[in-house]
Amino acid sequence: MRIGITGCAGRMGKLLVKTVAEADDLRLVGAVVRPGHAAVGHDAGLIAGIDPVGVAVSDDPVPLFADADAVIDFTVPESTVDFAALAAQGKTALLIGTTGLSDDDKAALDKAARHTPILLAPNTALGPNLLMHLVRQAAARLDTGWDIEIFEMHHRMKVDAPSGTAVALGEAAAAGRGVTLADVATWSRAGHTGPRPEGEIGFATLRGGSVAGEHTVVFASQGERLELTHRATDRAIFAAGAVKAIRWLRAQPPGRYTMADMLGG
Ligand code: NAD
Repeated sequence: MRIGITGCAGRMGKLLVKTVAEADDLRLVGAVVRPGHAAVGHDAGLIAGIDPVGVAVSDDPVPLFADADAVIDFTVPESTVDFAALAAQGKTALLIGTTGLSDDDKAALDKAARHTPILLAPNTALGPNLLMHLVRQAAARLDTGWDIEIFEMHHRMKVDAPSGTAVALGEAAAAGRGVTLADVATWSRAGHTGPRPEGEIGFATLRGGSVAGEHTVVFASQGERLELTHRATDRAIFAAGAVKAIRWLRAQPPGRYTMADMLGG
């Protein structure tokens, strides 16, 4: 399978170049960075800190989407939306790991997905996706006497909050309770907040150091507390999951997909 990578000089982009280069059934055919980036013209392997892979980094995504069977995108929402339109034109499968997309951005993905398979994954690793499944089950079994709080911590360079995974965990908890997250979410707290409303789903965000990603969903009742936690200790889990998902996605008809679709629900 011919693979393109957008944002190949980013933290995840470099890992993806390495993971694709190591896979026997995948061939890197293009790697792009944002316009004017210092990596333009250099070998994508060298930028990723591995041996040369014979692909020069470009800042033009148009040929990438024409040449590749599938593209993996871990960049920023504005670029992701543009890439989805290019994927629709080129009928290129698109796996999106970028987080922080707005509802309008997601509507643009829906439009592009009429022409090509698109998978939006706030988290491409196996553990967090299993966590989402478990959280939905727990929320369905525990009534609103159990307060749900979602805590996440990431490295200091992360630009969106709460993390896409934390939001997805909130959506899983809300789905388990049969409610819509936007109706019950409290994204942060400060000042005189008053008592906690019943049924609220609260979020707390920490940023610091090099933390790859930690998520805990707390179910707190009178006299007992259940906590479900995932800790990422190596970002390579996200790249490995992305590569697994792209193999599956390439074989699907046009449409919008999730990691749960890929993992069998
Ligand atoms: P990063 O800032 O290191 O990398 C993003 C890269 O995208 C940068 O190098 C930037 O120059 C590049 N970029 C921006 N616009 C571009 C454009 N138009 N064309 C090409 N490249 C462009 O960030 P990161 O830590 O690699 O994370 C990237 C995204 O992936 C974030 O949204 C993050 O939350 C998300 N992420 C998702 C998962 C997951 O499992 N889904 C895991 C880790 C990170």
